[in-house]
Amino acid sequence: MNIVQGIKVTLLSLAVMFLAFYTAIFTQTIWLPKLELFEQSLYGLFVITIIFSAHFSRSRFTFLTIIFALFYITINEQLAWSSWVLAHQSWLLLSGLFIFALLSQLKERGVISAHGVSRIILFGLCGISAYAWGIAIEALIEVLKVNQFTSKWDHYLLLELPILLVSLLLFWRSIATANLVVVALFISSIVWCLHFYKFIELPWSVTLTVLVSYYLLVVVVESYFFAYRDELTGLPSRRALNQLALSLSNKYCVAVVDIDFFKKFNDNYGHDIGDQVLKLVASKLTNVKKGGKVFRYGGEEFCIVFPRKNTEQILTELDRIRLVIANYKMVIRSPKRKTKEQRNKAKAKTDTKKVSVNVSIGVAQKASNNSFEQTFKLADQALYKAKKSGRNKVCS
Ligand code: GH3
Ligand code: MG
Ligand code: MG
Repeated sequence: MNIVQGIKVTLLSLAVMFLAFYTAIFTQTIWLPKLELFEQSLYGLFVITIIFSAHFSRSRFTFLTIIFALFYITINEQLAWSSWVLAHQSWLLLSGLFIFALLSQLKERGVISAHGVSRIILFGLCGISAYAWGIAIEALIEVLKVNQFTSKWDHYLLLELPILLVSLLLFWRSIATANLVVVALFISSIVWCLHFYKFIELPWSVTLTVLVSYYLLVVVVESYFFAYRDELTGLPSRRALNQLALSLSNKYCVAVVDIDFFKKFNDNYGHDIGDQVLKLVASKLTNVKKGGKVFRYGGEEFCIVFPRKNTEQILTELDRIRLVIANYKMVIRSPKRKTKEQRNKAKAKTDTKKVSVNVSIGVAQKASNNSFEQTFKLADQALYKAKKSGRNKVCS
């Protein structure tokens, strides 16, 4: 499921970036006379992206933008190390690739912290590793030559082999995590390589403007999802529900769904399995028909809003969903297995368990003078009625 999502996110991001570079390449006549303006505003873009990404806890973008800014200053200004860097293009290419690969493996852990310091050391190690790789491969080719083992593939060892390995790693991470930051790292590595091989024939100022703007866009999109999506279930959050409440017409229904005895369930099976169950209940609820919009209200409570419906029109549907959840046997993996031996033992007996949960549902329909909050309260009272009368019920 996650991989399908990952493929979708990766392909969509690739398409967006392909379009961005295609546009940049084919509008050269427009922006080329104003290139200087581009070069100057890039510094502003660096600063905005660094501040914005650090503020929204996207430290990987913060570091990456700082590294790109340093790179850009190095190639544009006559710094002490500029000529050395420009004379070692293979090292530069590999260092960049190793940094993308490293960042794809790290978690977002803040910039100004102990983690930040350790990251700076790791970036330094990427540069050293790239240098060491170059020396090692040159030495290896020399040895092969002396022993007459050379083949026509040897010169691919220095750059193309690590490019292939890093690309495969980043591609795999992109589709496996469906994380926009990781996808951005994958795309950055492609752009980085294409630029070095001169497939992208744009000044660095333009390439970096496109890349860094893309990071900024990802930060904005992610913070939107952060605010309006529940992280565990992927459902719209309570904030999104409040937003919808403002746009509802005069006719709608609200259903409040609450998992029965969930505290006991957590006590019996553990919080992690409780989380898995919450996700499964959420996914069952999203199959609700009659135009119901599902939200995670908080904890083990969900809210479904049915615009332009009255109670009679949705009761059967809600009862169907209640039954689907009650009859669904969720297969859960045993959380206690640790070692391989224990795992094999567990497999021999029952590696998995089947559990099920019930939900109680309270429904209310908007009355002419009632606000959304009042309607919600009525639905909550109906839920209380369902709980009181034995649970696993729909009440209005
Ligand atoms: P009732 O049938 O009356 O609703 O009983 P209940 O135990 O479901 O209700 P109660 O409000 O006493 O407990 C709700 C429990 O839901 C408490 C908490 O452990 C659990 N819960 C809330 N949010 C989460 C979550 O995100 N993950 C997990 N695993 N459990 C959660
Ligand atoms: Mg509750
Ligand atoms: Mg409950």
